[in-house]
Amino acid sequence: MTTNEKAANEKIYDMVILGGGPAGATAALYGVRAGLSVVILEKMSLGGEIITTDRLDNFPAFPEGISGAEFGMLLEQQLNNLAVPVFTADIEKVELEGEVKYVATTAGNFSGKTVLIATGTEPNLLGVEGEQELLGRGVSYCATCDAAFFRDKEVAVVGGGNAALEETIFLSRLVSKIYLIHRRDQFRGVKGLQDKVLELPGVEVLWNTTVSKIEGGGKVSGLKVNQEGEERFLEVSGVFIYAGRRANAPYLEGAALETTKNGYLETNEKMETSLPGVYAAGDIRKKYLRQVVTAASDGAVAASAAAQFIFS
Ligand SMILES: Cc1cc2nc3c(=O)[nH]c(=O)nc-3n(C[C@H](O)[C@H](O)[C@H](O)COP(=O)(O)OP(=O)(O)OC[C@H]3O[C@@H](n4cnc5c(N)ncnc54)[C@H](O)[C@@H]3O)c2cc1C
Repeated sequence: MTTNEKAANEKIYDMVILGGGPAGATAALYGVRAGLSVVILEKMSLGGEIITTDRLDNFPAFPEGISGAEFGMLLEQQLNNLAVPVFTADIEKVELEGEVKYVATTAGNFSGKTVLIATGTEPNLLGVEGEQELLGRGVSYCATCDAAFFRDKEVAVVGGGNAALEETIFLSRLVSKIYLIHRRDQFRGVKGLQDKVLELPGVEVLWNTTVSKIEGGGKVSGLKVNQEGEERFLEVSGVFIYAGRRANAPYLEGAALETTKNGYLETNEKMETSLPGVYAAGDIRKKYLRQVVTAASDGAVAASAAAQFIFS
C-alpha cells in the first residue's frame, strides 16, 4: 500500500472488523457498547455463512429454530439499531504491523487502532477432474443456495460431517434421489443428524466410496466413483461437495501472523493474535468447535479485549 493510498480515508477507527458473519457482527455490537468506533467490511451480506443454510436449530433462545436468512436479517437490524457503519467491500490487502493498521478494499482504504479478522472459512475442493470445469453447472458447495435447480432430479452429496448431513436433509425435500457418498464406514456428524439421514427414504448411502471423476459436457451428467475397489458410474445432474473447509484470508498472505498449517489463526483466550492490536474471531481461528454460537462468543471476547487495549 502506498502512502497516498493509506491517506485516502483519514478516519482512524478504534476497530476495523473484517467480515460481517456472527463473529464480526457480535464484535461490532460489543465494541459499540464499549464505546469504540467500529466499522464492518463485508463483501457479501451481513450474517455470514449461516445465511446460506436452511435452518439454524442449535442457537439458544430460538425454540423452533430459525432460518439462516432470517437470522442474517435480525443481525443486520440489530447493527442498524446501533448505527454500526457497514461497507460492502472485498478486503484485498492489509498492513498490520504498525500502531495504525491499514486495510485496502474494493471500497477504499480503512485504518484502525485495532483490526479484527473474522472472514471465516471456504470449502475445500475434492480435487478431482471435472470439479472446477463444472462448477456452477452441477457442481455446488451449497445445497441451500442451489437445490432449487435440481428439483425432482437425482443428485449426489459427498461428505460425512454435519454440513453434508444437514444439506442432505434439506435436499431430500426437493430431489428425487440422493447418493450420499462417504469415504469411511461411518459418519462424522452428530448422532441426531445421522439418525435422521438414515431414515430418509430417497437416500442411498455409499460407504467406503470415493469420487474419481465428475463427468459432463457443459453440465454434470454423472460421477465415476470407486466403491470398495469397484468402479461404478452414478447418473446424477448435481453433486454437492462437503469435504471440509479451510481458513479464508488470502489477503493475509505475507502477514507476520502465526497460523496452523491450514492457515487457521492462532489466538489466545482474549482472541489476540501474534501481532499487538490484531484479533481473530470465529471460524478463521484455530478452535475446537466452529459454530454460530462460538463465533459470536469469540467476537464478544475480541471486542472486549480490544476496548481494554485501547482504553488502558
Ligand atoms: C452448510 C453449513 C451448515 C451449518 N450449519 C450450522 C448450524 O446449524 N449451526 C451452527 O451453529 N453453525 C452452523 N454452521 C457453521 C456456521 O455457519 C459458522 O460456524 C459461522 O457462520 C462462523 O461465523 P464467522 O463469523 O466466523 O464466519 P462466516 O459466517 O463465515 O462469516 C465470514 C464473513 O466474512 C466475509 N468475507 C470473507 N472474505 C472476505 C473478504 N475478502 N472481504 C470482505 N468480507 C469477506 C464473508 O462474506 C462472510 O460474511 C454451518 C456451516 C455450513 C457451511
